[in-house]
Amino acid sequence: MTDYDVIIAGAGTGGATMAYTLGKKGHSVLLIDRKQKDMIGYKTCGDALGSHHLKALDSLVNLPQMPKGIVEYDIAGIDIIAPDREHRLRMAGPTTSGFSFNRLKLGQWMLSIAEDAGATVMASTRVKRLMFDGGKVSGVKIMEEGSDSDKELSGRIVVDATGAVGMLRRQLPESSPVERTIAKEDFMVAVRDIYETPDYTFETPDILDIYWDQEQTLGGYIWVFPQGPNRVNVGCGLMTIPGHKKPQDIFNNFVRKNWDFMKTKLVDIHSGGGIAPVRRPIDTLVDDNFMLVGDSGAQVNPIHGGGIGSSMLGGAQAGITASEALEQNDTSINALWPYNPRYMESYGIKQASLDVFRWFLLNITNEDINFAFKKQIVKASDLLNTSKTGKMSMGSGEKFKRLVAGVGKVPLLMRINKIGKIMEEVKAVYAAYPDSPKGLQDWKARLVPIYDAAKKA
Ligand SMILES: Cc1cc2nc3c(=O)[nH]c(=O)nc-3n(C[C@H](O)[C@H](O)[C@H](O)COP(=O)(O)OP(=O)(O)OC[C@H]3O[C@@H](n4cnc5c(N)ncnc54)[C@H](O)[C@@H]3O)c2cc1C
Repeated sequence: MTDYDVIIAGAGTGGATMAYTLGKKGHSVLLIDRKQKDMIGYKTCGDALGSHHLKALDSLVNLPQMPKGIVEYDIAGIDIIAPDREHRLRMAGPTTSGFSFNRLKLGQWMLSIAEDAGATVMASTRVKRLMFDGGKVSGVKIMEEGSDSDKELSGRIVVDATGAVGMLRRQLPESSPVERTIAKEDFMVAVRDIYETPDYTFETPDILDIYWDQEQTLGGYIWVFPQGPNRVNVGCGLMTIPGHKKPQDIFNNFVRKNWDFMKTKLVDIHSGGGIAPVRRPIDTLVDDNFMLVGDSGAQVNPIHGGGIGSSMLGGAQAGITASEALEQNDTSINALWPYNPRYMESYGIKQASLDVFRWFLLNITNEDINFAFKKQIVKASDLLNTSKTGKMSMGSGEKFKRLVAGVGKVPLLMRINKIGKIMEEVKAVYAAYPDSPKGLQDWKARLVPIYDAAKKA
């Protein structure tokens, strides 16, 4: 007899969605967070979410309608701006409309729906260690705030939803098929501020601006996300590859000096920084009695770093799978395995191919991007399609026209072509994701050389 059916470490968007899903199905769930209860959800974030994520969650787990008070402003589209800042591409469609929101209120609402569904919330409590019985995960050691001793709690399934740190994933034994660490080069580091701008009015507050600049934010971008005519969430993030710049330096020395609104009166609402994994998902999100959800499972979009919607998707799918396993009275890796193909088919496959695209973006120059935008070699519909499907596409009738436009940049065009093929290869490997743990090693052996090629393309 265990203390709980499922113990979830981390009550962020992923953990709370899983707790909600399991609670609704009648399982005993403990949701633990180190933050004070009324601070759960408080996080440095771009505060933007596509509405399509919520629609998908509604049909998957009947997620209640988000209360209006959480939304700061509705978003109609996203502009991608070239380094020269003279050319921009507007992406507007079902996957780019959404809203900006109050991060704390979002977290508090998600916590409340988990509690209403029956989950027990334990706040101000740090999960310290995984416990094992016969080499298999059996529970966690926790320490409550104000206490000076650990407490042991047992669960049939333990979930690491601790975010980018992957606190419990890192404690798995070496023999686990789950990768315990994420390479430094697979993280994005970012800083951002939220300001009221009483003397500056954003003309298109429903459009989010993303600025590419490889000399400043290599592999990342600067974002200016208005949250209404006189309020903005502004930040910059970049890949943590060797020798990368510090985001705070970029913010102070580049962003502050080059955006008009930054030179007007700014009323500080919040400043902060954070990290996010921006790679393909962890190759298996389960082990015996153990699951990964959200950032700890690397369920973040590798191109824009958005991970709220996908962590909620992961949380819902993990909850559905855990419930099925508990009902069969089997929480082994085999019984939890269906979570992997569920996630890989619905989102992981796209993430994996965008991870390839990330390496391509890392290796192109400002001059290349300016050229591609100016000559319309890349169009908004291509970017939208790539971000939606993980497929590099160019309308076939347009191909010739664009090739002619691209004369003088033949190596760039050849590389675009090559990376498109590699993205297809990755998608083909994901389409054959193994249906049991037995096939994992062979599957990974097919994947690794493709990523090695992508890094050099
Ligand atoms: C600067 C920045 C901007 C971003 N902007 C966006 C955006 O605009 N849109 C978007 O969709 N995504 C954005 N993301 C990504 C997004 O924030 C994450 O992908 C998402 O929050 C992941 O949810 P999660 O539940 O996995 O983790 P989190 O939301 O990070 O939650 C993890 C929880 O675990 C708790 N925890 C950690 N360790 C322990 C422990 N040992 N014991 C107990 N509790 C613990 C934490 O307190 C936290 O509450 C951004 C990320 C960063 C860094």
